[in-house]
Amino acid sequence: MRQDIIRSIPSVNELLESPEISKLTDRYPRRLIVDAIRAVLEDIRQTVTHKKGMLQHSLNCDTSYSSPPCEEGDPGVVKGLAETQKIDLSPQRLSLFVQQYLRQKFCGIEHAINATGIILHTGLGRAPIPDVAAQQIQNILKGFCTLEIEKNTGRRGGRYHHIEQLICMITGAEAALVVNNNAAAVLLALDTMARGKETIISRSQLVEIGGSFRMPDVMTRSGAILIEVGTTNKTYLTDYRNAITERTGLLLKVHQSNFKIVGFTETVDLKDLVSLGKERSIPVMYDLGSGALIDPERFGLPHEPTVQESIKTGVDIVTFSTDKLLGGPQGGIIAGKKKWVDLLKRNPLTRALRVGKLTIAALEATLKLYLEEDLVTEKIPVLAMIFAPLETMEERCKRVMSRMTPETKAFMNISRVEGFSEMGGGSLPGERIPTKLISLHSEKINADKIVAQLRGNTPPIFARIEQERVLLDMRTVYDAEVDTIAIALENICRS
Ligand SMILES: *Cc1c(COP(=O)(O)O)cnc(C)c1O
Repeated sequence: MRQDIIRSIPSVNELLESPEISKLTDRYPRRLIVDAIRAVLEDIRQTVTHKKGMLQHSLNCDTSYSSPPCEEGDPGVVKGLAETQKIDLSPQRLSLFVQQYLRQKFCGIEHAINATGIILHTGLGRAPIPDVAAQQIQNILKGFCTLEIEKNTGRRGGRYHHIEQLICMITGAEAALVVNNNAAAVLLALDTMARGKETIISRSQLVEIGGSFRMPDVMTRSGAILIEVGTTNKTYLTDYRNAITERTGLLLKVHQSNFKIVGFTETVDLKDLVSLGKERSIPVMYDLGSGALIDPERFGLPHEPTVQESIKTGVDIVTFSTDKLLGGPQGGIIAGKKKWVDLLKRNPLTRALRVGKLTIAALEATLKLYLEEDLVTEKIPVLAMIFAPLETMEERCKRVMSRMTPETKAFMNISRVEGFSEMGGGSLPGERIPTKLISLHSEKINADKIVAQLRGNTPPIFARIEQERVLLDMRTVYDAEVDTIAIALENICRS
């Protein structure tokens, strides 16, 4: 019997020529497909001969292609089927395994659906960029572009010139510079302004962001000497004043982006810190983190310090990310007094931290949207998501449900529920934004498996689990992705 099965395993060439596999050549290089076919066939041979197959894991019930459903603990579909003598070795069926193998083994960065409700999800690429920004990347980067050339004279020009003007116009700053991300912006600013000098910062602001950005470590790396003042919950202006010596090079304020201290707290306003800096001729820098250009307070959310209001205090330098509340591509902006920005531009580190034309094209297009305030909340996806009315999410929930069969709805116990979205990306910590979600749970498949299958979809769908239920938050889902979610859920039920 086993020998018969082994004999009926198709050859690599047979599979390569089958229509199901030929279709894959649009998506994967032929070499990878051949590798995948070999691996799948070898695994089948191994499994049939009862040795442990390489693909055991991918062929068992964890995958959306493993129909018919198998029992918990089943070592593998192929083995299970072999024993019941009904093994399906048709190219159609095997091509599914080949596809699955290719997807698992050779997946690069790909489009994903964010149904987590976390708007700035660093794992999912933080801010999705506006349409115009994506178009601009297409238009400009397919050929040559005027990255560093002056059209009028034909002479070499500055890479940052246009974007600097735009940043100044929007923020009110005298000068600006763009680097790779905000961590780079902070590093460059500290290296330029405070290397070898004492930098005074409140203990409550020695933050860690995203696990790899720790303010004290970045300060040390830049050569600034860290002088902590105040306590975790309270810092007064006199704390800074008393710490100033002839070695002081900088007064630093950092936005507590991803946490909130509540209760008896005291922090020093930027305005007061700037006055102290002026009085003692010491520059003041503010790491804003999020870099909101529009105050979320305007739409009923808590106040977030905007770049404009910070610049207005007369602060020497502010730094902020361009892929957080600003809603653009990854980048970091340094803006403020021309005297300091000019110094930063001359720092050799600037060359190492400089951005490419991709960033400049996308950031310029995003920033231009801020020149028309009425349109920003519509055209910048991050802002559109933050300010989306409940009806939008409700509508999407209804559309997903209307596209599903009654069987699926019953199998998954699907319902519309209320809950909360989060800003993420170290912005508006603790703030819960009311939303509408799809909730599902099944007696047959546990929640972990459902989310794993959703991740295995093409494109992968990311959801969250709360109290054994799978939740799909419609706030971060694009209208065009609604059908894909419905189809993915249908497929899970059928598998
Ligand atoms: C997010 C953040 C950073 C790091 O910014 P990246 O753009 O992720 O490098 C630094 N400081 C603060 C206060 C932040 O919120």
